[in-house]
Parts: sequence; structure tokens; C-alpha cells
Amino acid sequence: MRDIGDRLLIATHNAGKLAEMAHLLAPHGVTVVGAAAMGLPEPAETGTTFVENARIKAHAAAQATGLPALSDDSGIAIDALDGAPGVYTADWAETPSGRDFTLAMTRAHDALLASGLPQPWTAQFCCTLVLAWPDGNDMVFPGVMHGRFVWPMRGTQGHGYDPVFQPDGHDITFAEMDRWQKNLISHRADAFRKFVQACFGG
Ligand code: IMP
Repeated sequence: MRDIGDRLLIATHNAGKLAEMAHLLAPHGVTVVGAAAMGLPEPAETGTTFVENARIKAHAAAQATGLPALSDDSGIAIDALDGAPGVYTADWAETPSGRDFTLAMTRAHDALLASGLPQPWTAQFCCTLVLAWPDGNDMVFPGVMHGRFVWPMRGTQGHGYDPVFQPDGHDITFAEMDRWQKNLISHRADAFRKFVQACFGG
């Protein structure tokens, strides 16, 4: 087990992810600080897998600050779309005036209709956490939540694609759950359990 101290840099500029990770880390006495608060630039995510992109973000933040840094690269992989949008999940929301997730979810729905494939549209939310140290070492923690892409969008909680993802074993979407309920079962919770086991022993 390697000690990460009581202050952990979260290598994300995404406020939704930062809030979720702060909530997941609170029971372990760790204070989190976000990349934006540290004035760090957002590195280009040039990888083609979740782990490559998570490594880019964690190592850039650890090198820049001298702090251990935890990054998350995540996305939704829809089976009928051969795993798209996958690592490009955030890119599908890009517009000239910022990210628009209603547009991204509509794009995914349009692509599903165009595929002609019948429902249920099975999908997975994937999350890869990378914990990087300033000395260049890192640890990788993958997480997954299986479910289905549903339409129309339902719910107002959460962030990103939460309104169109209904996790297996539930009849509500992530956006219809409160964050405590989501944080118990999500892909990020799955990866976090492995991270907590490795760094805090339980
Ligand atoms: P990235 O990891 O910063 O490249 O972005 C991943 C994108 O996946 C986010 O911008 C969200 O749109 C989406 N995403 C990841 N995790 C979740 C989640 O828990 N709920 C909803 N959308 C998510």
C-alpha cells in the first residue's frame, strides 16, 4: 500500500466529476483539490483508450504540481454503435459555444435509430482511474456499470449522459437517482472501490 497523504489533486476540469470524487473520498479524510483551482491547463486527450487518456491527465497534473494526482477517464459505450461514443463521449457534446449534453444524447439516439437495431440498447458506463506520482509511477483502477440506453431522457440529477442511462437492476435512470444512490453503484464507484482498497486498505 502506498501513502497518498491527506491532500489529493483530482486531475479533472469537470465540476460534476470533481463533486462526485470529493463525495467518494470524504469518508477517507482526504481533502481534494481540482485541476482548475490549481490553474492547470487541460492536456489534450490524444489516447484511443480510457487508460491512455487517464494516464495523460494524471501524469501531467502530478508533474506540474509535485502532488499525487488522480484522474478519471470515462464514457458510455453503446453496444449497437460498436462501443461508440466510448472515449469520445465528451467530444459528442462539443459545440462552438461549449458542451451540450442534450445534443450529445440526441446524437446517440439518432445513431441508434439509424442503426435499425431493436431495443433494448445495451450499454456500459466505463471509468478508468489512474493515480500518478510525481516520480512517474502509477496505478490503474478500471470500473464498469452495465445497463441500457433509454429514450426519452429522464431525470434532472447528475451530469453528462445520466438522463439516458438506466443501470441493470433499476427502473430509473442515473439522473433520477440521488447522487448517494448513484455513487454506490456507478462505474466510478466500482473503480473507486479498487482504488480505496489499494490506498486505504478497505
Ligand atoms: P472525459 O473522461 O473527461 O473524457 O469525459 C467523459 C464524459 O463521459 C463526460 O463528459 C460525461 O459526458 C460522460 N460521463 C462519464 N461519467 C459519467 C457519469 O457518471 N454520468 C454521465 N455522464 C458521464
